[in-house]
Amino acid sequence: MRWENLSDGPRRGAADPALFGADAVTTRTFDTPEFRGITFHEIRARSIVNRVPGASRMPFEWTVNPYRGCTHACVYCFARKTHSYLDLDTGLGFDSQIVVKVNAPELLRRRLASPSWHGEHIAMGTNVDCYQRAEGRYALMPGIIEALRDRANPFSILTKGTLILRDLDLLRQAAAVTDVGISVSVGFVDEQLWRTVEPGTPAPGRRLEVVRTLSGHGIGCGVLMAPVIPFLGDHPDQLRATVRAIAEAGATSVTPLVLHLRPGAREWFMAWLAEHHPHLVRRYERLYAEGAYAPKWYQRRITRHVHDLAREFGIGPSRAGAARRIPEPRETTPAPAATQLTLL
Ligand code: SF4
Repeated sequence: MRWENLSDGPRRGAADPALFGADAVTTRTFDTPEFRGITFHEIRARSIVNRVPGASRMPFEWTVNPYRGCTHACVYCFARKTHSYLDLDTGLGFDSQIVVKVNAPELLRRRLASPSWHGEHIAMGTNVDCYQRAEGRYALMPGIIEALRDRANPFSILTKGTLILRDLDLLRQAAAVTDVGISVSVGFVDEQLWRTVEPGTPAPGRRLEVVRTLSGHGIGCGVLMAPVIPFLGDHPDQLRATVRAIAEAGATSVTPLVLHLRPGAREWFMAWLAEHHPHLVRRYERLYAEGAYAPKWYQRRITRHVHDLAREFGIGPSRAGAARRIPEPRETTPAPAATQLTLL
């Protein structure tokens, strides 16, 4: 196991400020049902604010990630690759070997007070989920939010974790002094799909309760509708049910994102697909033949469809607070995979 690099990218060399020695690691397990089979590696990191490489497709420059690995265990998780930088397994190891940067709050407070820091936006939940189950035990986020609040530093959080509601008061305090953006990730509301593809996460309905609660307390919350999973979660009826539920929860926006399969995630996802949906393997190989992303035509098709539904249900930043137009549910019957939203 390699502990020299706890920044969020591949190893960058001996001058990396995130370097620290193996003596900084304490390994723990907890014999409670919630954490059975999980190993925590507690470390004292040397830095906590990461700069996103310029080539990134991400719309943010600075990130804070107090954890590495994620017990939410989504089979498609793009962050799996980052476990290989530590010589840890990107499959089950990613789900069960969790690195905890126990000094994250104090490091962040120090960084925000530094003369070289100019109050830039900080994004969290961009690599792994900062409200995964480990946060219930380590409680790093309250100290992180307090540090940001005290400096009126703008920030955003993306999560699937209902635990974020524990920090509701702190989020409200922060939102009173700076820009706070919260997004919850819900790619689909199909419970059967959820159980197999996101086995460690709260159910989609519980995540939408988070959206509802935050909105009810004056904190606008968007939904990242991600991932839309080709042939399994992209049927028009599934998209409609999902956007409808998002609208009913009071989301300020919905942003669809089609599944992407980068190295690390791709192998794990395809192994899962071969076990659970072997008839789809060839179709996936064709859809993702060019690399990590589905073809542009497919992405555009999903995006247009979801945006049309969002308009129908009255979701959108410009309509925040406006009355939702939620028609009575329609009778739908599950369609066979062959009729799903695809031209392949
Ligand atoms: S919740 Fe996010 S970080 Fe965690 S496994 Fe799922 S996709 Fe990955």
